[in-house]
Amino acid sequence: MQLREHGRRVTPQRRAIVQALLDSDGIHPTADQVFQRVQSVMPDMSPATVYNTLHEMVEIGELLELDLGLGERRYDLHTSNHAHLVCLGCGQVVDVPYSDPPALPPEHAQGFRVIDYLGVFRGYCPGCQSGG
Ligand SMILES: [Zn+2]
Ligand SMILES: [Zn+2]
Repeated sequence: MQLREHGRRVTPQRRAIVQALLDSDGIHPTADQVFQRVQSVMPDMSPATVYNTLHEMVEIGELLELDLGLGERRYDLHTSNHAHLVCLGCGQVVDVPYSDPPALPPEHAQGFRVIDYLGVFRGYCPGCQSGG
């Protein structure tokens, strides 16, 4: 188990995965979508390597793993404060920047150590509303 070390091992595999995420900027790809992109560059890379690397990056805080209620986890290189606008029809995800997260009322906090706030606006984009 060497997953815990924070030293950045910049392997070619890892570099390809980061590039795939950069190429998907704004799309918030699933692990499968990252894998497909990586595979076009490095056909030898296994899905397990992609998934493990994604998880490592989440663990060290380089990547956000988002459950947006779409059934599949999405990955996001933007780790700063932002909420998401999600279309339940086509699955598109748009970043929505905000300056301060909403405050948790003290009566609900109960000593809870909050580490972040993931706001999600969900609905249907114009295309999905007209397309039926
Ligand atoms: Zn849509
Ligand atoms: Zn995002």
